[in-house]
Amino acid sequence: MATKHVFVTGGVTSSLGKGIIAASLAKLLQARGLKVTIQKFDPYINVDPGTLNPYEHGECYVTEDGAETDLDLGHYERFLGNYTSKASNVTTGKVYQTVIEKERAGAYKGKTVQVIPHITDEIKRRLLLLGKGRKYDIVITEIGGTVGDIESLPFIEAVRQVQWKLAKENCVVIHLTLVPYLAAAKELKTKPTQHSVRQLQQEGVNPDVIVCRTEKPLPLALRRKVALFCNVRPHAVIEAIDQKSIYEVPLNLQRQNLDGILMDLLKLDDKVEPNLDAWKDFIHRINNPTQEVNIALVGKYVELQDAYKSILESFIHAGAANSARVKVFPIQSEHLSEENVKEKLAGMKGILVAPGFGSRGVDGKIFACKYAREHRVPFLGICLGMQMAVLEFARNAAGIPGAESAEIVPQTGFPVIDLMEQEKQQAGMTDTMRLGAYQSKITRGSLAHKVYGKLSVKERHRHRYELNNAYIPMLEKAGLQITGRNPKTGFAEIVELSDHPFFIGVQFHPELKSTPEKPAPLFTAFVEAALHHANNT
Ligand code: GLN
Repeated sequence: MATKHVFVTGGVTSSLGKGIIAASLAKLLQARGLKVTIQKFDPYINVDPGTLNPYEHGECYVTEDGAETDLDLGHYERFLGNYTSKASNVTTGKVYQTVIEKERAGAYKGKTVQVIPHITDEIKRRLLLLGKGRKYDIVITEIGGTVGDIESLPFIEAVRQVQWKLAKENCVVIHLTLVPYLAAAKELKTKPTQHSVRQLQQEGVNPDVIVCRTEKPLPLALRRKVALFCNVRPHAVIEAIDQKSIYEVPLNLQRQNLDGILMDLLKLDDKVEPNLDAWKDFIHRINNPTQEVNIALVGKYVELQDAYKSILESFIHAGAANSARVKVFPIQSEHLSEENVKEKLAGMKGILVAPGFGSRGVDGKIFACKYAREHRVPFLGICLGMQMAVLEFARNAAGIPGAESAEIVPQTGFPVIDLMEQEKQQAGMTDTMRLGAYQSKITRGSLAHKVYGKLSVKERHRHRYELNNAYIPMLEKAGLQITGRNPKTGFAEIVELSDHPFFIGVQFHPELKSTPEKPAPLFTAFVEAALHHANNT
């Protein structure tokens, strides 16, 4: 069977949740036994979101093979339980980079290089790439941005050409729109949907399915109206009403037979009933917690919920695994001081110090680490959070009062956290940023060993600085244990305190691999420790 393509476009406004719709559909098709993957095409000019401030675009999600990508790829992995890769996130910047490099190398043989056909050809090549080699039955492609935007035009044109080229049963277009409710008129309005579909049609693409985001149920008459004016069958107008949780979206779409409609359009055998038992069980557990626990998330981007997306999702997964609801309290690290830390963290049964870059808010993170260590509150430090826990320990427990991170004070005489360039080069690492999955060897009998239940793990990284190996003997002597190491470089990957109920810092990002069906062991154990702390204090 040739790989089939499903494109998801968006209209009316951004932030409608195309990523969740795409991921939900993928989940439903996967549950019918099909091999499905998802990719995202973003119209911005950044080559990847690695350099984007999280305030601009939320979290930068890192794949197993080390690509810095859009946070929607996190949703794809969480819903599907499969890894995405470098090829799964394409931006205008990447497309132009390839075309310009080819032009410089003379590949266009003196021709004028233009948006059409050269840019659109490159988009098309990339759209179809994951479908090569019959690895997948279905490739779902989310086209970022909103139809009608200047910058998304070449992408829609490429979709048009693919739709033209492929057999009808091998290509489906789903358009996601908004049906707003006007409180003054007490009415749902379909006009923006009609206009946005018309815009898409003007650009040459006919959607097969229309998914309407709405706050209120869409009456049948309105669905019929959308169907008539947008040129689709009435049963292909799907209501995507706000759900309690993103994880319920697949079930809502299934109730309206979106997967059945797709199977039909793609001429796939729909005899296999989707198996969503594990997923439903997970939802049951999120909806029926038996206990509740407060956990502080100390970071500098806490105002924006998307900045720590994977961490927040990991808490939902870990909460469900513990039959508990985790109430996450975002704490702006810039506002934490030695004087107020006790008051701000009072009542918290666990403290997570978040990843990050640069010096803003690091002092507050250090106060939070100290508070957790001294008050025996369960602690999880991730990446910069682990580095700050090490600095705090070095300064206040290991007799290195001047301990610093070279990221924050480059000229420091005590670079406990440092660049370690030489060691990285010796280990054959070319880029200064360590990205993607690396192995950690775990010490037998450590907390990390207990948490993971094994002696070797592969977790994802995104950082430049490392715990400086030269300081490890002093730190260890004072009681900080290095219980996970990179087997090639010897760099510390996991640190813990043995005389503390649960104090663990990791150089990697366990949140990037957590899914509802396989929660990250570190998060599950951290929530369990927080529940234990709550029941005993
Ligand atoms: N800024 C730190 C480093 O580069 C930590 C990065 C992170 O938290 N992702 O090493």
